[in-house]
Amino acid sequence: MYNPKSQKATEFIDHQEILDTLAYADANKANAALIDSILEKAERRKGLSHREASVLLACELPDRTERMYRLAEQIKKDFYGSRIVMFAPLYLSNYCVNGCVYCPYHHQNKHIARKKLTQEDIVREVTALQDMGHKRLALEAGEDPVNNPIEYILESIKTIYSIKHKNGAIRRVNVNIAATTVENYRRLRDAGIGTYILFQETYHKESYEKLHPTGPKHNYDYHTEAMDRAMQGGIDDVGLGVLFGLELYRYEFAGLLMHAEHLEAAYGVGPHTISVPRIKRADDIDPNVFDNGIDDDTFAKITACIRIAVPYTGMIISTRENKKVRERLLHLGISQISGASRTSVGGYAEDEPEDEKSEQFDVSDNRTLDEVVRWLMELGYIPSFCTACYREGRTGDRFMSLCKSGQIQNCCQPNALMTLKEYLTDYASPKTREVGERLIEAEMKNVASDKVRFIAAERLVKIAQGERDFRF
Ligand code: SF4
Ligand code: SF4
Repeated sequence: MYNPKSQKATEFIDHQEILDTLAYADANKANAALIDSILEKAERRKGLSHREASVLLACELPDRTERMYRLAEQIKKDFYGSRIVMFAPLYLSNYCVNGCVYCPYHHQNKHIARKKLTQEDIVREVTALQDMGHKRLALEAGEDPVNNPIEYILESIKTIYSIKHKNGAIRRVNVNIAATTVENYRRLRDAGIGTYILFQETYHKESYEKLHPTGPKHNYDYHTEAMDRAMQGGIDDVGLGVLFGLELYRYEFAGLLMHAEHLEAAYGVGPHTISVPRIKRADDIDPNVFDNGIDDDTFAKITACIRIAVPYTGMIISTRENKKVRERLLHLGISQISGASRTSVGGYAEDEPEDEKSEQFDVSDNRTLDEVVRWLMELGYIPSFCTACYREGRTGDRFMSLCKSGQIQNCCQPNALMTLKEYLTDYASPKTREVGERLIEAEMKNVASDKVRFIAAERLVKIAQGERDFRF
């Protein structure tokens, strides 16, 4: 029985409810009156239910689809302005006891190089990341209680926060590790993590069990209820995602939104972020063996529909996608992107030797962070290295209420400009610096409050003189 408030996976992700939703969406995909009423609701920026959003995703009327894209772009502008938050993944270890059939770290893969960073390795990697200009990391590790116990993850987080190289600092560590216990989530919270990220991979239970034939991840319910335990452990910023390509995308889309609705119904706060990875080639993984791959147009429509359905949730895209796809999706709702990523264990401080490759997937965007930052600015975006909210205690429902009232904008714009100024001063090439200084000057005019603008202008001068880490 479908129940968004239930803490049982099969009740808040009810299979029959998803099937009914897809049937409803199919029956109404050309129902102009219904589609118009859903779009009107979306225009009021109140979000949509999984059923309503599924109708939009199924919509076959070209003019309504166009309207949907325009609305997604407008919502993106209203909530996020032209800011794009930057981050980088850091792979700690690719030891893994699970058998996920789409990931080269699966236990049966005997030829991929298995690596685990020591604390000394982490210092080298994080120093290299700081020297690029990164301030925000997403930690990644396989599931392996012997090689990657929670103590190792906690020690690594402590090491990362302690590294201060030149003017560098990692100010927010998001963590993407396997589903764990309430007690371990509490320990992660106490270690000062930002967002806890866990991809569902697929919401379809039967497929999930086939795609995860061995290892603890095989347990669909335990995996799907992970965010509940994270919330119970005091982590109130959680990041959802599915791996598009494994199952029918419309099924995943409905499941993803039902998961978001569940978090809102049960804990009063929806997901902090949603990621939209697509399955990619990697070591012994061929994406063509999965039947449910989605093309770029479908991917764009999914992104736009998520943006419309959950306007307050950040949306993330990684370097799995190439420059062209990233550029298109930035318009439609993406608010965070990674730059200059390495998807191997190690690889920031020095390249991996050819015979010791440990990548999780092939990167499709190989540009440097400086190139990505300049590209964004030339497109009119403000690359932001801001990490202020979590450090000011603006998390969970406190963060969401500031988002919903629009007040967060008073912080985001000046914080983006101040952190960009830090980046330009410390790390950018002369050309990027020139483009960036012009952008900051122009965008300061868009700081709404006179008082905030005045303080931000003073701080920009202080940053040029060597002071760091201002925030609103
Ligand atoms: S997806 Fe995660 S759990 Fe599965 S094999 Fe890869 S690293 Fe392990
Ligand atoms: S002020 Fe908060 S919401 Fe805005 S960019 Fe910074 S961390 Fe994100």
